Amino acid sequence: MLKKSISRRVLVTGGAGFVGSHLVDRLLAEGDEVLCVDNLYTGDKHNIYHLHNHPKFEFLRHDVTFPLYVEVDEIFNLACPASPIHYQRDPVQTTKTSVHGAINVLGLAKRLQCPVLQASTSEVYGDPEIHPQPEGYWGNVNPIGIRSCYDEGKRCAETLFFDYHRQHGTEIKVARIFNTYGPRMHPADGRVVSNFIVQALQGQDITVYGNGSQTRSFCFVDDLVDGLIRLMRSGPEVTGPINLGNPREFTILQLAQLVIAKTGSSSKIIHAELPGDDPKQRKPDISVAKSTLGWEPGIQIEDGLDKTIAYFRKIVLESAEPWAPPVHAAANIAS
Ligand code: NAD
Ligand code: UDP
Ligand code: UDP
Repeated sequence: MLKKSISRRVLVTGGAGFVGSHLVDRLLAEGDEVLCVDNLYTGDKHNIYHLHNHPKFEFLRHDVTFPLYVEVDEIFNLACPASPIHYQRDPVQTTKTSVHGAINVLGLAKRLQCPVLQASTSEVYGDPEIHPQPEGYWGNVNPIGIRSCYDEGKRCAETLFFDYHRQHGTEIKVARIFNTYGPRMHPADGRVVSNFIVQALQGQDITVYGNGSQTRSFCFVDDLVDGLIRLMRSGPEVTGPINLGNPREFTILQLAQLVIAKTGSSSKIIHAELPGDDPKQRKPDISVAKSTLGWEPGIQIEDGLDKTIAYFRKIVLESAEPWAPPVHAAANIAS
């Protein structure tokens, strides 16, 4: 018998990716219907297999650079490769995904008069000269470097979000996400946490780019998803941009040592060439998220790493072939 649905219908673009698939799980657990749209460029069907028969879940293979006509009540726009190695593989497509993708989800939100959240990034601050980074900082971004397809694409997407808000009254939410890690990162993702864990679990050399003194601040994915949902449901007056991240800062060398200690690995650390424009330091100022959303991360890296290592241990054990985490093309390994 047909029943009238009373659930909220939520669109998650990039929903088969690392963050997106956790967001989809959380929304379904809260009773929402979810339409997951993804072209599977860096995402993986394994991340959503468990939802195959879920009555409130639907998957659509689609590239957000093309228009999308669906009926939903909320839009989370996460579609975009996030790992430098993958977003630099086809940089023109990366910019198109950010810019054309933003135009299409904004056109959709404008027609439906529904809120739309943009997964922006700490990369809009580039190689920051202010530390930690508050939302008011305009950044230090190279417009023509190897990271620009991502950084400038995301900056242009933010511009489009604020222009749709000013010009058409679209309800927008812009989250500036800092480095996030956790289960369901792809073993071949290429970002630092998955690379180091997969290398350590297999006894491979751990590839620290440069001397490892550059810093990042790592947020566990469950904390981030909580922040994204709070931002979406924060009322129309809250547009952001709002930093979401864990302010505890580590050097990359410290992270390598922590992963070795946590995995009990005999891997040794080797040094590889630092890729161009690699930010030297990064740490979010999250005072706006605290005061506006009542949000701050609750999961410390020690616990988050344990969960992530357990996830990769299973993947590595189940794999017939060893995984070879991709290292940056500019990486000219020298110890
Ligand atoms: P991910 O690569 O695991 O997920 C991105 C998803 O988008 C993938 O499933 C991919 O297939 C999909 N996608 C890419 N291009 C697409 C297109 N043109 N059309 C449809 N789908 C497309 O990365 P993630 O870490 O889950 O990141 C999710 C979002 O959060 C991205 O927008 C990213 O820029 C942003 N972000 C993530 C982090 C982080 O540390 N994880 C930090 C800052 C910003
Ligand atoms: N769009 C979409 N789905 C919709 C409405 C619009 O994909 O439900 C796309 C549409 O193809 C257009 C873009 O969003 O290219 C921007 O739409 P908008 O209405 O802002 O601009 P216009 O169509 O006037 O160029
Ligand atoms: N990095 C590293 N070894 C790796 C992968 C990354 O030393 O195998 C470094 C990288 O140079 C950067 C930091 O770790 O300084 C974070 O890189 P990631 O690709 O995870 O994300 P980013 O914050 O640079 O976008």
